[in-house]
Amino acid sequence: MRLPLRWKILLGYLVVAGLTLGAAGWFALDALEAKDIEELRTSLAAQAHLAGRLFATPLARTPADSRDIDSLADRLGDAIHARVTIIGANGVVLGDSYESGEALHRMDNHLMRPEVRDAAATGLGVSIRVSSTLGIRMLNLALPIRTTSGPDVRSLGFVRLSVPLTEIEAHHHTLRGLLAVALGGAFLVSLALSYLVARGITRPLADMISTADRLARGELHGTIRTRSNDEVADLAHVLNRMATSLAETIQLLSEDRARIAATLAAMEEGVMVLSSDGTVRLINPAMERMLGRRQAEVVGRTDLEATRHPHLNEFIAQVLRHGGSLATEITMGSSPAQTFRVQASTLPNPGGQTQGAVFVFHDITDLRRLEQVRKGFVANVSHELRTPLTAIKGYVEALQDTGENPQERDRFLDVIRRHADRLDLIITDLLLLSKIESGLMPLKLGPVALSALVDRTVASLQPVIERKRHRIVKDFPPDLPPVLGDEERLGQVLSNLFENAVKYTLDGGTITASGRADHDAMLLTLSDTGIGIPPQDLPRVFERFYRVDKGRSRDMGGTGLGLSIVKHLVEAHGGTVMAASPPGGGACFTIRLPITPGHA
Ligand code: ADP
Repeated sequence: MRLPLRWKILLGYLVVAGLTLGAAGWFALDALEAKDIEELRTSLAAQAHLAGRLFATPLARTPADSRDIDSLADRLGDAIHARVTIIGANGVVLGDSYESGEALHRMDNHLMRPEVRDAAATGLGVSIRVSSTLGIRMLNLALPIRTTSGPDVRSLGFVRLSVPLTEIEAHHHTLRGLLAVALGGAFLVSLALSYLVARGITRPLADMISTADRLARGELHGTIRTRSNDEVADLAHVLNRMATSLAETIQLLSEDRARIAATLAAMEEGVMVLSSDGTVRLINPAMERMLGRRQAEVVGRTDLEATRHPHLNEFIAQVLRHGGSLATEITMGSSPAQTFRVQASTLPNPGGQTQGAVFVFHDITDLRRLEQVRKGFVANVSHELRTPLTAIKGYVEALQDTGENPQERDRFLDVIRRHADRLDLIITDLLLLSKIESGLMPLKLGPVALSALVDRTVASLQPVIERKRHRIVKDFPPDLPPVLGDEERLGQVLSNLFENAVKYTLDGGTITASGRADHDAMLLTLSDTGIGIPPQDLPRVFERFYRVDKGRSRDMGGTGLGLSIVKHLVEAHGGTVMAASPPGGGACFTIRLPITPGHA
């Protein structure tokens, strides 16, 4: 049976209090009774001495007068409220204050009464017995009676005084009652006190139990209140401190956790944490996007099930087997394929063993593509520059070999100049492109009226337009809002597009420039009736050095950089450019540029 602590303490107190009070009462009563009896005995002894003196003379007479002795015993008994018995030296009762006449003579020999025997032997005999005649407890005290005169001391008999103990017993009975009441009261007081003490101990304990229970359930803000100043209070303080430091630690941990979660969520890199057996413990949102699966779907699964990538799984197995920091490069997906650099490091537990590993996936697709573009670009530039340079070199040698023929020399020099011009053109375009790309060419933004800009561009190209007998059609509503742009750069865009239209349109063609507002943007379309662009080449015409027909473009003095410059400049303005090849033939370029705010 489970006995609550309060009851254990209470019972303990009660047992101790009960035993102590009971024993104390019992000993006190005993001692009191012994003292009363002793006092009675002393006074009886004194009276017996006097009686002995009184009866010495009648006893010394021979023969002793029994009647005389008995009546003296009666009177003395009355006077001292005790039974007085005078016994001859032979044990015969000669007088008794309770008996007389025939009854006195019938009384048996008293020599063997314990008190008489002791008196004969030691000079004083005391015994407490239940009287056979009266049936009550009596204190009997006997003394020998000796001769008081004469040379020889002779024993004449014994005097015995007996008093009933009823009075003492009654007194003690009353005392016992009083003591029982007092002890009962004391017991009740100690019961109340022990209850209060037990409650004083167990109540803070009960508080502590409920607070500890709340702590166990994660509610760390309750405190144990105690008014005591003892070990229980110390324990309560320790628990309170523990709860506070636990709450602080949990707060720190959850802040850390939130910080880590926020960091992981904000990371562009994919993060995957695996336990040492290769099961997924965590993936961040970037990793979810890379795998195309949600964290809940992959946590608890093996890396093979989560990623389904043999090369990656091989790498993971290697990392988990050998530990340390390793890196690899993998390609995932097919349309479009993505390249990742995977950086792995194992997570040691406090014991130093591997408890898992963390894998960070950096998307290096753009990096690889840029590398590819850069390589291609270098190859293109070298190739583009080599052609005119080779020509220049060849004609310089030819020039050296020609004799004094001035016509030949002029022709060669002319060719050299044309190739040198082309080199200059390519390098100028390249420099312009690199300036735009590296942001070294700040735009001077302002309102630009596209219609007027078209007019200026057409005017600057007038000679070649006339030579090729092209017709220019302009379709601009009168109140078109101006775009927000850098007039000089937008002039360059239009010039590149018009030059191409003039170039790639056979003589006598039509070039149409039209403008219209579309919400907060302006659309400028330039279409021609020229050779057009095959649909498969349309997405690539804005690439550097990309030409549909290399030979023709070069012959026409093109560098293959014009549209690339157009695209970069338009995008620098926050606009877009699109190329199309309409069913009716020719090419069509549409530029979308933001309207100057406040003019829409
Ligand atoms: P290029 O200096 O060769 O003209 P661009 O970058 O300006 O270089 O143009 C790239 C290629 O796009 C040209 O070589 C040409 O094949 C094609 N192209 C550009 N504009 C037109 C057009 N209006 N009509 C047909 N083809 C065009």
